[in-house]
Amino acid sequence: MKLTVVGCSGSFPSAESACSSYLVEADGFRLLLDMGNGALGELQRHCGLYDLDAIFLSHLHADHCIDMCAYFVARYYRHEGGRCAPLPVFGPEGTEHRLTTAYADTPSASSMSEVFDFHTVKPSTFEIGPFTVHTERVAHPVEAYAIRIEHGGRSLTYSGDTGVTPVLDELARDTDLFLCEAAFTHGKESIPDLHLNGREAGETATRAGARRLVLTHIPPWTDPQVNLTDARAVYAGPAELAVSGRTYEI
Ligand SMILES: [Zn+2]
Ligand SMILES: [Zn+2]
Repeated sequence: MKLTVVGCSGSFPSAESACSSYLVEADGFRLLLDMGNGALGELQRHCGLYDLDAIFLSHLHADHCIDMCAYFVARYYRHEGGRCAPLPVFGPEGTEHRLTTAYADTPSASSMSEVFDFHTVKPSTFEIGPFTVHTERVAHPVEAYAIRIEHGGRSLTYSGDTGVTPVLDELARDTDLFLCEAAFTHGKESIPDLHLNGREAGETATRAGARRLVLTHIPPWTDPQVNLTDARAVYAGPAELAVSGRTYEI
């Protein structure tokens, strides 16, 4: 599998990065995880506008899904070749309604489903193209999912947005790359069931036995180096910060 960080800024975009969006590729199949603010522009650095094969939305906060409205325009009003065929989109209950409402002026209430084929995510195991994926509900104010993606004996686990939860320890068990949010800073912000801090991300990686940790979703007002230091204090494996445009072979 190849992972490309399309955007990794937490909560709102930074000067260096769009919000959450990660491209996962294997066997020529392209699965995008989340499409937050600014992600659609960055995505075009890494693949063609119409070259995605499926999209997974971890939850419906704007910083994870709002560029789907822009992508609707690109697919619905495509200039050459006509309207795009529906692209599989996996998201929580209400994804189509959320995006239609956010767009505010779709030609009809069902226009989104002309270019997106919506599938409702529940905690389960299923196939997306060549990937076997496991989804679990995590601890966040809205229905939110973490996802484990397996291919060719390797695995990638993405936390989405979450507070501390044993569910994530289990989902990320022995995973090869753990892409984990660390939006908060230890000793600074502490709101249960919202976000992890760097230390909690490191502790989760340790409990899970994750082989590599990549911290992501760090907002522009937070010092990422502090969160990375906090994670390294409690996690002995390789740990680093996600950077927009960086790729990983898993
Ligand atoms: Zn978020
Ligand atoms: Zn969120």
